[in-house]
Amino acid sequence: MSQIVVNDGATPSPQTENVKALLSCVQDKQLYINGAYQAPAKSGYLETTDPSTGKLLARIANATAEDVDAAVDAARAALKGAWAAYTPLERSAVLNRIADLIEANMDELCELEVLDQGKPYYVARWAEIPATANQFRFFAGQALSLDGNTVNTSINYQPEGKQVHAWTERQPVGVVAAVTPWNSPLILTAMKLAPALAAGCTIVHKPAELTSLSALRLAELITEAGVPAGVLNVVTGDGANCGAALTGHKGVDKIAFTGSTATGRAIVDASKKHLTRVTLELGGKSPALVLPDADLELAIPGIANGIFFNGGQVCVANSRTYIHRSIFDKVVEGIAQYGAGMQLGHGLDQATQMGPVVSVEQAKKIEQFIEQAKASGAKVITGGVRTGENGTYITPTVITNTTPDMPIHCEEVFGPVLVAEPYDDIEEALVWCNDNDYGLAASVWTQDLSAAHRLSRQIDAGTVWINCHSMFDAALPIGGMKMSGYGRDSGKQALDNYLEWKTVCAVL
Ligand code: NAD
Repeated sequence: MSQIVVNDGATPSPQTENVKALLSCVQDKQLYINGAYQAPAKSGYLETTDPSTGKLLARIANATAEDVDAAVDAARAALKGAWAAYTPLERSAVLNRIADLIEANMDELCELEVLDQGKPYYVARWAEIPATANQFRFFAGQALSLDGNTVNTSINYQPEGKQVHAWTERQPVGVVAAVTPWNSPLILTAMKLAPALAAGCTIVHKPAELTSLSALRLAELITEAGVPAGVLNVVTGDGANCGAALTGHKGVDKIAFTGSTATGRAIVDASKKHLTRVTLELGGKSPALVLPDADLELAIPGIANGIFFNGGQVCVANSRTYIHRSIFDKVVEGIAQYGAGMQLGHGLDQATQMGPVVSVEQAKKIEQFIEQAKASGAKVITGGVRTGENGTYITPTVITNTTPDMPIHCEEVFGPVLVAEPYDDIEEALVWCNDNDYGLAASVWTQDLSAAHRLSRQIDAGTVWINCHSMFDAALPIGGMKMSGYGRDSGKQALDNYLEWKTVCAVL
């Protein structure tokens, strides 16, 4: 099996007019505030590049506190404007129109995402962008049933002859700061915007500085769908200035964050001053546990896909796998063959199965994990090489002979790197699964239903998959335990992030 980096400098051409125009000259992308583009108050721009080639795609505004103030002011004003009068049915219709527009502009959104992030076209076209539309469709439905309850109280001190009537209602939490990462930009954005809009909130979105282009295009589509000006604002820029100004802002009622655990901590610190509500979708080191009776026709490609999909830049990627010793060699060989047979290349080449990672820095970070593991005695079964014109490709990697204390075994690598270790006793493997700071996801591979049920309860993770990994749906809540964060995106549970309960108690 050979790994061929097909990126030989001849970048495949995009097909859609807007993306062709984007590539025809280097544009300065402005901030999207109050329904229109505006230049940053202090003229600073960051470069956004194609990770495969290093070619400059555009410059994005690097917002400062002044711009963040303008965006938050616009969102606060919009909270009390026309948007507040939208009925649930009207909000639902708007959300469905956003989904329609995403579908109508599917090819353009896919090309933008591929160019800016580096992912293979099929990941955008068959997984992430359709899932982005589905988020809006799912929450279009939820917008129709944000009900409270009537409450039977036992109060007996109301004035003589009067009755107590009490109920709860749900109200939008207010202005939401949505802060998102670079690995799957649009779908992770939709996971915040769709429930926030369904709840009637207004939003200031800060996309990752490496991948802001699709968020700006989505904002235009959201306006086109009929969302009033100021309801969604996009401030692009770096984390230290733009992100920190937003998450520490007094005018923000709620921070919905997806990103690394380190940044999650900084955000909790920033939230303390105004006691801003926070939900955190953070990192992971998700295990796949393979029992001796596993169906290997499912398990081998399932686990390989669980780590190599999107170049391993998936929060729930199964980056550790514990395999029963009786089948260890067979499973490891199968996964290694799958990885070694993958075609690497530019994401716009439809034959590409794995693209580059998002940046040279990220690629070097991954390489360092691998080199450090090798120096400590780990064995590379396949891959482990940083390559490509821009040095951003990491060949699909399988590593064994690691120990739980090695960084590659216990820390989030966020690349196409699988650590595989054999176990003899399932109880021992269960301890290894849980002996990690993260608790985002896990998978169990077995045909024994009882074992699957028992282990799914005993594994400390927000999601446990059985005989599959990375199966997502707008209706399925996703989120972490332990240092993977708190709160849930997707599913009905995500609405809780964007709604406040109000209790009304009346004497009538
Ligand atoms: P990151 O934490 O570096 O950045 C995420 C976002 O936070 C970016 O927009 C960044 O500009 C911003 N930011 C950085 N510093 C900030 C600060 N001090 N204040 C406010 N905002 C700040 O994460 P990343 O490298 O972009 O993304 C990769 C990480 O995201 C991985 O750890 C991955 O596991 C995690 N992730 C989690 C989920 C999930 O659902 N749990 C999903 C996808 C990615």
